[in-house]
Amino acid sequence: MAKRDYYEILGVSRNASEAEIKKAYRQMAIKYHPDKNPGNKEAEEKFKEAAEAYEVLSNAEKKSRYDQFGHQGMNSGGYGGGSHMNMEDIFSQFGDIFGGHNPFESFFGGGGGQRAGGRRVNRGTNLRIKVKLDLKEIANGVEKKIKVSKKVACHTCHGSGAQGSNSFSKCPNCKGSGQVRRVTNTILGQMQTVTTCNVCNGEGQVIANICKTCHGSGIEQGEETINIPIPAGVADGMQLNVSGKGNMGERNGVPGDLLIVIDEIEDPQLKRDGDNLLFDLYITFVDAALGTQAEVPTVDGKAKIKIEPGTQGGKVLRLKGKGLPRVNSYHKGDLLVNINVWTPQQLSAEEKKILEKLRDSENFKPKPGKGDKSFFEKMKEFFN
Ligand SMILES: [Zn+2]
Ligand SMILES: [Zn+2]
Repeated sequence: MAKRDYYEILGVSRNASEAEIKKAYRQMAIKYHPDKNPGNKEAEEKFKEAAEAYEVLSNAEKKSRYDQFGHQGMNSGGYGGGSHMNMEDIFSQFGDIFGGHNPFESFFGGGGGQRAGGRRVNRGTNLRIKVKLDLKEIANGVEKKIKVSKKVACHTCHGSGAQGSNSFSKCPNCKGSGQVRRVTNTILGQMQTVTTCNVCNGEGQVIANICKTCHGSGIEQGEETINIPIPAGVADGMQLNVSGKGNMGERNGVPGDLLIVIDEIEDPQLKRDGDNLLFDLYITFVDAALGTQAEVPTVDGKAKIKIEPGTQGGKVLRLKGKGLPRVNSYHKGDLLVNINVWTPQQLSAEEKKILEKLRDSENFKPKPGKGDKSFFEKMKEFFN
């Protein structure tokens, strides 16, 4: 099914402010909240759709990528958009939207029994790992298989934290509702507040027999081998988010995210400048005068370039498209070859003799002219 435009979903214009986007989403979240529309599939879809749209439009980086590339820009590599948000992700956003508390916990949550999505779920912590990439991997994109040490569901109790299946009993503090009502007398009269039960953490049940392996946490230290697709064109320090691959949450919780930080290995020959690559080529002044063919390294093998007769030192040759791609774009940078003419530092007596003969030759006298950029012009280009 074709995805609807995120702005259209929230009913805001493309240049809506952050506050307008937030307000629009808040209204949609209240209207389509599952607690208000029990069993209504269409409302649930609308609810999820709005959450996804908000997830992208509320994040400056994701929003600008979406504005530029549309849904296309949301799909590649580790840049998961909101496309795989589950209900828990959505509810965990609410703290931010509704200013520190989730209104549904107190408005719709009470009364015991099932609270659709309202049950407190433990979210695992995020994991951050560095991934080393060389220039070739960055140029082409790569899939990395990485063994990650992290918290996983306990193998004995499968994450419940309890031993055996009949190990849960109703929480004596909240009598299973997960919430505690407290009535306080104030000068304005009686006030009733609802808070999450601190005995069961809102779960409504407590463990009678704790699992001996994990001591009730439901998690243990383990490892997982994870395939991480890395898009071409990433740069040092960039962070990719692999959702749901972080540490497992306690007692049948949900996992946090895995954050991949790009650690670029500096190439010994090619220097990087954004999308462009820079290379210093040294040639003899004989080759500069007579012309020759030279080889330069590129991210995929060597390339041959032609040195024209009479080439001056400091000339820059541009190899179009031989640089690096840009993430989520068809744009490719160039390879810039800076030509240095090598002046010999040691000469034999015979060599000196030959050169002495050439010293006063008319052709050897510098005659800068058309096509030779001055130092000033080059610096101006450099800083633009
Ligand atoms: Zn266990
Ligand atoms: Zn309780």
